[in-house]
Amino acid sequence: MNRAFTALLFLFVLNKLSAFNADSLVRYYKVKADRFLAASPEVHDQFSVLNNGVAVYATASDKTNNLPEFFVSWEELESFKAAVKLRPHHRFIPYMIMKRELKLKGRTLSWPLESRDNATQFHAPYLPLHGIRIAIDPGHIAHDTIKGRLEQKFISMKMPQGKDSVRLAFAEGQLTWLTAAILAEHLKSQGAEVMLTRAAMNKTAFGRTYEEWKTFDGGVSLDSLIAAFPDNKNYSDLKNGKLKEERSYFRYVFKDVEIRRRAEEIGVFNPDFTVVIHYNVDEQNAPWTKPTTRNFCMLFVPGAFQVGELNDQESRLDFLRLLLTDEIENSVSGAAYLALSFKEGLKVPLANEKDAAYLGTSCLYSGSSGVYCRNLSMTRLIHGPVLYGETLYQDNLTEVRLLSEKPILDTVSGIMAPQRIIQVAKAYENGIRNWIYSGSFRNQN
Ligand SMILES: [Zn+2]
Repeated sequence: MNRAFTALLFLFVLNKLSAFNADSLVRYYKVKADRFLAASPEVHDQFSVLNNGVAVYATASDKTNNLPEFFVSWEELESFKAAVKLRPHHRFIPYMIMKRELKLKGRTLSWPLESRDNATQFHAPYLPLHGIRIAIDPGHIAHDTIKGRLEQKFISMKMPQGKDSVRLAFAEGQLTWLTAAILAEHLKSQGAEVMLTRAAMNKTAFGRTYEEWKTFDGGVSLDSLIAAFPDNKNYSDLKNGKLKEERSYFRYVFKDVEIRRRAEEIGVFNPDFTVVIHYNVDEQNAPWTKPTTRNFCMLFVPGAFQVGELNDQESRLDFLRLLLTDEIENSVSGAAYLALSFKEGLKVPLANEKDAAYLGTSCLYSGSSGVYCRNLSMTRLIHGPVLYGETLYQDNLTEVRLLSEKPILDTVSGIMAPQRIIQVAKAYENGIRNWIYSGSFRNQN
């Protein structure tokens, strides 16, 4: 055996031994909770890292009275990590509760380990991304500025042109879909297996346009929301017609159910990791009717729960999953490669904590430049590593012009798009490839 190998073997054994050392686990998860997960002091009222495992509590007084809602002992840690990865909330929560009830009676229940459909397809073995499954989520739904106005995600500005002026307008949903569609084809051409949460630019995650969804599913969705949240006035006002603006329907009913649908679809696909694609705006430039000179890129990964964000059982299970699995660590690892690729490929600087107010108030710095833990629906609901990219500010003086340029053909995907969007897709592609080639991607479990 050569010396390097012996040293590696020694480190490996040391690592495995320490996994059974409760003291080191307590230290590790305490530090991790502070660093990545507890963005407000109140979050500490709802969990404990104990000598025998981790407990999560429904309320602060439950913690005082030592009544955990979920508990995972150190002995169960590895099997919990494997089981939680495979199961959606609605199937896992009843299981956790049954486990707790049986434990009170002195009985134990082992973790269910049945995997989701994981059928592999044929891959040409020489392709560099062979065997890698990637989910891509193009943010928002608008395919034109009319829908962009409905979801409040659009740019429309009068820009000087010679002695005249021109109106430049686009919706974020158009930018994200084109980027995702181009990226998907580039990754597939290298052997990756890719799924998109939206199949076409005008389709929602339900496989239907917004209007089709409203006609076929809207009523049922509203009724189930009313049944689940009978005290919510927005829902009842939508039902009885007091609230009849299309924007309210979109905001209170569609947005949340559609985001959940995206996460469910991704869960069924069971990817190695998920890329969520958005384009940012300068928050100081609201209402975005004129361009800004500021421009930054950033990435979000899971974590950073704030006060009030552990109010429901589902969120508390997500907190426990994110604390005990390596999903945050793996997300930071991948996001760091994307951040570097955005910065170099797009010539957009990485955002520091002071560059946007929400980075200080709603996020925790991951320790990796431009990467922040943030508790968004899409970082919390998706299982596995999540790389949520905000490549540039759409309302930036230069970007707004570049993003409105005449489309050109991207030969790999066969898709027509402004050159800037093709550059963004390639920046994602390079970052993903660098991460996979780095070896840190393969070390995750
Ligand atoms: Zn967005």
